[in-house]
Amino acid sequence: GTVADRLAGNRYETDEEESHIHLDQDLARTTGCARRLVAICPAKVYAEEADGTISVEYAACFECGACAAVAEPGVLTWRYPRGGMGISLREG
Ligand code: SF4
Repeated sequence: GTVADRLAGNRYETDEEESHIHLDQDLARTTGCARRLVAICPAKVYAEEADGTISVEYAACFECGACAAVAEPGVLTWRYPRGGMGISLREG
């Protein structure tokens, strides 16, 4: 395929591997956390989609910790990239 196709494919695989934030959609809604997360993240990692779910653009996260501070227990599950260098090595 084209270079763009290959980059898109690589990006998808990379994201699947390196996702480090898991959001419990149901819990986020029932606890009212969803809007708080969207509002507080300075990197705009969280966004409310048309269907009401919250998308998580974790690649933009710079690990400031704000979301973890406002989320109710169980809403967010963090899995830090191995070695703690996920972001800086993402393009490597
Ligand atoms: Fe956003 Fe900070 Fe949470 Fe990352 S740690 S998702 S930058 S609020």
